[in-house]
Amino acid sequence: MKVAVFSTQSYDRTAFTEANQSFTHQLIFLQQPLNSQTASLAKGCQAVCVFVNDKLDKACLEQLAAMGIHTIALRCAGYNNVCLVSAQALAIKVVYVPDYAPEGIAEHAVGLILALNRQLHRAYNRVRDNNFMLSGMLGFNLHGKTVGVVGTGKIGEAFCRIMQGFGCSVIAYDPEPNPNCQQMGVEYMDFQRLISCADIISLHCPLTAKTRYLIDDKALSIMKPGVMLINTSRGAVLDTQAAIKHLKNGKIGYLGLDVYEHEAALFFSDRSAQILQDDMFSRLLTMPNVLITGHQAFFTAEAITTIANTTLANITAIQQGANCINEVTAP
Ligand code: NAD
Repeated sequence: MKVAVFSTQSYDRTAFTEANQSFTHQLIFLQQPLNSQTASLAKGCQAVCVFVNDKLDKACLEQLAAMGIHTIALRCAGYNNVCLVSAQALAIKVVYVPDYAPEGIAEHAVGLILALNRQLHRAYNRVRDNNFMLSGMLGFNLHGKTVGVVGTGKIGEAFCRIMQGFGCSVIAYDPEPNPNCQQMGVEYMDFQRLISCADIISLHCPLTAKTRYLIDDKALSIMKPGVMLINTSRGAVLDTQAAIKHLKNGKIGYLGLDVYEHEAALFFSDRSAQILQDDMFSRLLTMPNVLITGHQAFFTAEAITTIANTTLANITAIQQGANCINEVTAP
């Protein structure tokens, strides 16, 4: 199939070119993100391959359908950026990569916890400045702490397993509890109770209409004072403005983010010579107890290889008219 691969970085090009030796699709690599302004770049293709911040709303999908594009291959686990109802109405198939390296994402969430707790991001700079004072670096033992997990699918489950290894008591909220987690001794409870008794809360649910701003002002106000909040799911699960309020009043003791609600205008580009226009993001950057990575939790060698192979296999399955196990449909 001729596929326009949007939002490509050099590592995408390398991984997809290598994986494609076994598939022989015709891949057109484009740096631009896909949205209703750039959709025409896919002219002549039958499929588009997209990433987390490409915006496939109704207007974009209508343009793709008019050009004869019948397949959208997401090279990621979330599909909140595609209007599935419009895709279905336009007979466009949507495939994704549900399970490429859940442990890697869980490990990144744990990395944020360890760094924030023991101030590793600040210690790095302090020692390089020949400042060996420990004041302001006091951490806490993870052992014995209560860790609340919101969403216990593949990533949440891997995260629960790691945190139990630290000797934490792991509690969870998920409308569909995971039997593997129950078997591991993870205690399920309702959302309000979970957020009010956890020392550390880690978000691993998808972004849906129900989870948008799930962590808002009200939710933050019932959390334990000094709570550590980690978000590696999708930015808009957290109301950033409310988080800033509760960082300023001390309710949030630590905030670790790999995702940000307005990340599409920032992430995956070098903006080091620019003046940052996003005041909310800039405010977060001023706080010593906030650690942000630019949507890199997925970014391991294992994940990149699996993503490329699964995406191309998904496209092949559609091309052959076979049932693709990784197809997503409107709920
Ligand atoms: P998954 O589908 O295996 O698990 C998601 C879980 O969330 C399910 O158990 C589901 O029942 C639960 N859930 C749904 N609605 C919920 C709600 N309202 N409250 C609590 N839980 C709810 O998905 P996964 O592979 O574990 O990935 C989870 C999310 O992580 C993805 O949707 C994606 O947004 C994000 N992700 C981020 C990165 C990254 O690099 N930062 C990489 C991959 C995935």
